[in-house]
Amino acid sequence: MCAACEWSRHFPQFGASRRAVLRTGAAVFAAAAVSACSALPGSSARDSTPSPAGDDASASDQADFVFHNGRVYTVAGPAPWAQAVAVTGKAISYVGDDAGAMALAGPKTRVVDLNGRLLMPGFVEAHIHPFLGGFLSTGVDLQVDTGADALAAIARYAKDNPTGAVRGFGWRVDMFGPEGPTRDDLDRVLPDRPGFFFAIDGHSLWANSKALEMAGVKRDTPDPIPGFSYYQRDANGEPTGYILEVAAVLGVVNAVEPISADTMSTLLEAWLPKASEAGITSVFDAGVPPVGSDQGAMIGKYVDIEKRGALPFRVVASYSVKSAPVDDAVQKLTDIRNEVSSELVEVNVVKIIGDGTQEGYTAWLLEPYADRPDSIGASPFTEEQWHQLVAQVDAAGFDVHVHACGERTARVGLDSIEQAIAKNPPRERRHTVAHLVYVEDPDSDRFAKLGVVAQFSANWMSADPDTVQNLAARYGAPRKDNFFRPQKVLKSGGRISLGTDWPAAGYYSTYKPLESIQIGATRQLVGQLDAPVLAPADQKLSVAEAVHANTLGAAYQLRLDSRVGSVEVGKLADLIVLDRNILEIEPHDIHQTKVTMTMMNGEIRHEAS
Ligand SMILES: [Zn+2]
Ligand SMILES: [Zn+2]
Repeated sequence: MCAACEWSRHFPQFGASRRAVLRTGAAVFAAAAVSACSALPGSSARDSTPSPAGDDASASDQADFVFHNGRVYTVAGPAPWAQAVAVTGKAISYVGDDAGAMALAGPKTRVVDLNGRLLMPGFVEAHIHPFLGGFLSTGVDLQVDTGADALAAIARYAKDNPTGAVRGFGWRVDMFGPEGPTRDDLDRVLPDRPGFFFAIDGHSLWANSKALEMAGVKRDTPDPIPGFSYYQRDANGEPTGYILEVAAVLGVVNAVEPISADTMSTLLEAWLPKASEAGITSVFDAGVPPVGSDQGAMIGKYVDIEKRGALPFRVVASYSVKSAPVDDAVQKLTDIRNEVSSELVEVNVVKIIGDGTQEGYTAWLLEPYADRPDSIGASPFTEEQWHQLVAQVDAAGFDVHVHACGERTARVGLDSIEQAIAKNPPRERRHTVAHLVYVEDPDSDRFAKLGVVAQFSANWMSADPDTVQNLAARYGAPRKDNFFRPQKVLKSGGRISLGTDWPAAGYYSTYKPLESIQIGATRQLVGQLDAPVLAPADQKLSVAEAVHANTLGAAYQLRLDSRVGSVEVGKLADLIVLDRNILEIEPHDIHQTKVTMTMMNGEIRHEAS
């Protein structure tokens, strides 16, 4: 897990691209309905917006949509349930009972009978990598049980998609023998077309002979990083088709399907309807793959898509800092922010890649790795650089989002935020520390004290083989029995948010908030009632807590909470309709729930037929 952030440093060498200068200005920034309250982060839209509910709808106060006869979960206030909602333009114009909503219905209104179904706020993803996700996961889904299943899936896909290269994602190393998967197996189902398939953790690739040939990988080809990033070879020195680590992986991929900002954007765009189908209406992009070294050019692709009317969610994007120097971070963020800004896309967060990953022994720990006692991992920054970076970002009025897989990184990140708070004038801060695989008890309690959001990927909180074997081996007892503790943060009064970190995964990769919410509530893998529960079991979230963290809690982190995240009059109409009430059904069934409608900005972006 956490691999997505780490991937980013491998992209600058590819497809240097022209920087698109986009100055759409602030004029289109806020919808009229919420402009009055968007200047006051955290204020409730309801306080400043008069209720438009009238007795009967004259042409001017006629709603565009009325949803009635449903169960409306508003995620707002002490009484979060209502029956009906009206939407006028981009905004929610009524929340209440059927009679009040129907009074706003006129001849031009689309009246939707919810028929008892659940309407709730659209999901806000607090940490995700859409470009990398599109790039890795396009093609065949190989999250299956065995190598034979994977080959069958590839054969089926190739038959259905008869031209071009075949790509895919999701196979696991344990589906094959110790020598890894082979091109021979692939050649049997893909004899004359190139094929390449990413492993679930993004650290290796399985390629067929045609792909190796296009990449010029032969017996005498030198390995990109001998012993670390290399082509697995057979007894005769011939490459087997199993390719390890990102440097070698991307070389082969680029030879078959050239990597550029444009191709990344095309792959992203193909995924967007799936995001709407999953109910996603806002995302925090926690770091783009900087193709051609230009993060701003990649983020600008969102605006290009928006201009064509094809962006189905809001984006808060970040500028990633992964190594020193740190003193230009504010300027870099400001430059990108000035160039890339639109109604749906804003850039106002500095992502600090504070360490690596546990699987690579690069997460920064307080005590050594149990299975490598001479190492505590590392951070790319000295403590002084940490403090300087966070203080500067904070002084400039921006928020930091810290990648902290290891608990030392979480501690140093919190220390740096604490120092910035002491040093800089008071302001409304929304700093965030993310991943939080393992956090020491005293640090868990500091999220509340410092007002820092604890960002979790609930989809990782299962007792899957990667967690209970690999991650547990890294940490040993007692640390291995205290992974992922969102309840501890909540109990001490802190705020949490959920985001899948898609495509990053150790065992199961998903961008679907409903799956993440189920795993957060059960601490079990999806699909197996009797799957083992990840310790400590008392860290399970209630479904309501998980829903809050994936809507209003995430919106708070992103400074979107005055505009979206709950169903309230005056907020923007980002709404979803589900075919069952996830607050009331057995949590193990949540993943079977269908999003039957997704509305963003008052427009329907997905509707089940
Ligand atoms: Zn990430
Ligand atoms: Zn990360």
